[in-house]
Amino acid sequence: MKGCMRNECPQCGSVAFVKNGMTRHHAQNYLCRGCGRQFVRELQIEHISDRVKALVLRLKEEQLSLESICRICSVSRSWLVQFFKTQKSHTGT
Ligand SMILES: [Zn+2]
Repeated sequence: MKGCMRNECPQCGSVAFVKNGMTRHHAQNYLCRGCGRQFVRELQIEHISDRVKALVLRLKEEQLSLESICRICSVSRSWLVQFFKTQKSHTGT
């Protein structure tokens, strides 16, 4: 998977962000001027938008298979498995 660059804040969608030093992984870090969120522009596997995550969870509640969710949400199966693992700790509303 080749990395690509995001052009907006992952949190609020603002394009007004400034360079904010380097991460410990030597990636350029950015700071959103809209909401103050820090992020890196280089997309990694974990960088799935909250909107997609919400959709993933909804589809899972509908008992869809992992394969279906992958196709609908355009996420990798490995990410999905990882994501569900992280969700386990706080399920139930
Ligand atoms: Zn923002």
